[in-house]
Amino acid sequence: MDLQTAELRINDLRSLLNQYGYEYYVLDMPTVPDAEYDRLMKELLELETTFPELITSDSPSVRVGGKILDVFEKVEHRTPMLSLGNAFNEQDLKDFDRRVRQAVGDNVSYVCELKIDGLAVSLRYENGLFIQGATRGDGTIGEDITANLKTIKSIPLRLRENATLEVRGEAYMPKKSFEALNKAKEERGEELAANPRNAAAGSLRQLDPKIAASRNLDVFLYGIGGGTINAASHSEGLDYLDQLGFKTNKERRKCPTINEVIEYVNSWGDKRPHLPYEIDGIVIKVDSYEHQSKLGTTAKSPRWAIAYKFPAEEVVTTLLDIELSVGRTGVVTPTAILIPVKVAGTTVQRASLHNEDLIREKDIKIGDQVVVKKAGDIIPEVVNVLAEQRTGNERDFQMPTHCPECESELVRLEGEVALRCINPKCPAQIREGLIHFVSRDAMNIEGLGEKVISQLFAEKLISDVADIYKLTHDQLIALERMGEKSVTNLLKAIEASKGNSLEKLLFGLGIRHVGAKAAKTLAQSFDTMEKLAHAKKDDLLAINEIGDKMADSIVAFFDQEEAEELLRELASVGVNMEYKGAKPVSAEESNSIFAGKTVVLTGKLEQLSRNEAKEKIEALGGNVSGSVSKKTHLVIAGEDAGSKLAKAEELGIEVWDEEKLLIELNK
Ligand code: NAD
Repeated sequence: MDLQTAELRINDLRSLLNQYGYEYYVLDMPTVPDAEYDRLMKELLELETTFPELITSDSPSVRVGGKILDVFEKVEHRTPMLSLGNAFNEQDLKDFDRRVRQAVGDNVSYVCELKIDGLAVSLRYENGLFIQGATRGDGTIGEDITANLKTIKSIPLRLRENATLEVRGEAYMPKKSFEALNKAKEERGEELAANPRNAAAGSLRQLDPKIAASRNLDVFLYGIGGGTINAASHSEGLDYLDQLGFKTNKERRKCPTINEVIEYVNSWGDKRPHLPYEIDGIVIKVDSYEHQSKLGTTAKSPRWAIAYKFPAEEVVTTLLDIELSVGRTGVVTPTAILIPVKVAGTTVQRASLHNEDLIREKDIKIGDQVVVKKAGDIIPEVVNVLAEQRTGNERDFQMPTHCPECESELVRLEGEVALRCINPKCPAQIREGLIHFVSRDAMNIEGLGEKVISQLFAEKLISDVADIYKLTHDQLIALERMGEKSVTNLLKAIEASKGNSLEKLLFGLGIRHVGAKAAKTLAQSFDTMEKLAHAKKDDLLAINEIGDKMADSIVAFFDQEEAEELLRELASVGVNMEYKGAKPVSAEESNSIFAGKTVVLTGKLEQLSRNEAKEKIEALGGNVSGSVSKKTHLVIAGEDAGSKLAKAEELGIEVWDEEKLLIELNK
């Protein structure tokens, strides 16, 4: 990059960072994910390193925090309140360790602390009395928020000793207070707070202390900013704060080596959701005060500390294109094709955009910078567009009027947002139906994945599910990337699938509205395909979990001549048409401890698969549900159980481990 281009980009970056910084620090209302701010800052720092002549004293890269509000008195900090350098991976931590040891030698030791996601505050005590509290502000001058800080009950107004000192810490809003705040805001029809950090900052920067008092804030003190102190190291300093009556965070740990630091950092990835407050990383500090002063600070952050940031849960990337796919039921779904990007630890390059309305609503254009997150931590989702980062080269997306596969006209059925191809011969729908038939919850034919099915379909070797059972060795070996061994295994898997219990076949047929759970209920209730095929709508409605829509759809399916023909063909090649599983026992019939109880399984079980455990509990008259609520009677928590276990504990629901489950199942 030449100097002129660099200057243009630097100007753009500074203006974006200033805008985002203002929204975050001054308005307490961020409009982009933190990871986006960090990414732009990193780009700016890299450009300023390559072109040092372009550094200016007002660049966001050399400034701490934001502007201070005039409504508060100003407080000059005795020692500056700095920001922290960032680490995003193990290598960054090792580099930090190398820099530290180069400066102070190998006899260094670290203290790891949780990085509480709130706002930094400084508290001044004179002769043991709390006299002033301030925000970090621009690092040198902060805002006097003493009255608001006095509403935080864990801030002592008088210390246990008559000490004179300035302490630093993080004021934060516990998750529970944040939920309560947003619930109240929702009821009043107000805009919701973006996150606990900004809600805490907003609460402490109110003129009326009653508002701060109503927000149930809390504080953790993590450092000393001046005064006489009785300690030679950071860890001793924290112990001293405890002794004075301050609230410090007890999860801190002394780590003599960087490997132990890394271990500590990694251990918090999974534990983090169980904390009653938000953390966004781990702060690593050199322990000895002598080492700290040897290392010193830059204008923006101390060289003796670094903040490891957890993988971002929301990130920004470029939407390169919108692709269309036709599903098994003819629904045409637009999918965003993204520049691959890491979200919460895994790489994401596609995200469903669901339908045209959503694209309009979010004003998504091809070429846009978009915020991506994983909904429910699994499925990637486009959250919003960063319209201010548009260059003018973005393009509007137009939904087609005709099916991208078979070119028949698309329709929008009444009450639906989706566009559908209603041609039953549409090759895309048939192919997707075949893929569904062999999938895990259906016939579960290993070795017949999406790619092989697509090949077989394209070569016209299969056109309906019965054809799968007519495939020969010679046909399969002629396919791309198919060896002798794969063919033998595949034929074996196809043969084995013939013996599947009825519900797998039923689900595999793809009858509209019949999911895996309903298929199981139907198979248990009717026992054979024959009986189900002759069931009347009323017979179906007599079953608890079958509603009107599903009953209609089942009757309509079996009414079709093609369906009858297909089932005859499947039976003739030897596909089982009977239910083979255990019959559920009703709560009245069972005298087991599980009878009539709603049980939730969470975490990894060692001895049983989730499905096995579920079947066994149901066979004893229990009911297995997917989510914990007040109606849950019992939670079985395996290894690494997450938020469901936390919720059960919160609601006071009985929790068993796998061992106890096995004992009770075998009674
Ligand atoms: P920082 O949040 O990266 O780290 C410094 C802060 O960590 C300290 O000031 C302190 O308040 C806090 N902290 C929490 N626990 C601590 C502990 N145990 N020990 C020491 N400090 C602890 O730095 P920053 O300067 O406050 O903010 C920069 C960050 O803010 C960026 O990395 C970005 O993620 C976010 N930001 C986001 C936007 C946005 O628009 N989304 C805008 C500006 C800044």
